[in-house]
Amino acid sequence: MSKVDKLLTNIKAFIQKAEEVEGDIKDILPNDIPELNELPGLVEEFETLTAKLLRRQRKFYLDKLKAFVSKDDTETLEAILNYFQNDLFAADEFALLYGVEAAKFLENTTASLTKIIMESIDKDVAFNVLSKRTTDWIESWSKELAEIMQLNTHKAVESQLLEAINAGESIAQAELRLKDLPQFDRKRARAVSRTEILTASSQANWESFMQSPSVIGKKWKHSGAKKIKPRETHVAMDGTVAGVDELFLVDGEFGMYPRDTTFSAKNRVNCGCVLSPVVDNHITGLSPEEKEEIRQGVLEELDAQ
Ligand SMILES: [Zn+2]
Repeated sequence: MSKVDKLLTNIKAFIQKAEEVEGDIKDILPNDIPELNELPGLVEEFETLTAKLLRRQRKFYLDKLKAFVSKDDTETLEAILNYFQNDLFAADEFALLYGVEAAKFLENTTASLTKIIMESIDKDVAFNVLSKRTTDWIESWSKELAEIMQLNTHKAVESQLLEAINAGESIAQAELRLKDLPQFDRKRARAVSRTEILTASSQANWESFMQSPSVIGKKWKHSGAKKIKPRETHVAMDGTVAGVDELFLVDGEFGMYPRDTTFSAKNRVNCGCVLSPVVDNHITGLSPEEKEEIRQGVLEELDAQ
């Protein structure tokens, strides 16, 4: 296995394990890939920040609820639900604050992974900047992610209040429901941070292949996950080559890489397939200056889009 294939296989294994294990993700890093050492720290830092913002969001709702009922002790749960739907949801700052943190995290991890992947492809072309296409993607995806998370929290808050109303509960009981909502807890922060490292790594694959002059395509490599019987459609993909910026067609569905979110669950779940760069050795043999010129050309093209 080439150096870059070994690295990509290890990154994939790390990310898959990170989504499964409860404990410290430092313990699941492969010993022989010291380049990855900084990853767990970045993921954990993001988890801590996310958890802090979720606690802040919970406090916001509980404080507002207390203030609302303290003004008038005849308030009903129906009035509280109205207050949440009409005032509080719009005043919630979580998505705004979280979007900024998510963008920082995605930028750091995508840059860090792109750097080590590029180094393992060709030491002559060192990473120095992310393309505009990737920074644009980071900006839009982090906003979207933050909004999805906030919307899910609002839906959960709403449904707890409705359940409390239907069960004829007291305001104190409804407050307890909100306090214990899993949408505000650390587990959610952990799950989302460990999922987003996968998103960053897929983008880093694309970015490093695009910026490496010797990479002229990407090859789908089937690798069976332990849990399931290999999908024949994925076995059939083994060795299929596409342009770095082109889609693969798998089982009637299009995707840029294995486990792309554009695939449906039947193609994503437990898929252990990896991408491998298709390298043109003629280009690898060019002078560092010539390679740099090719890279600059690609960056200019991506920035112009
Ligand atoms: Zn697969």
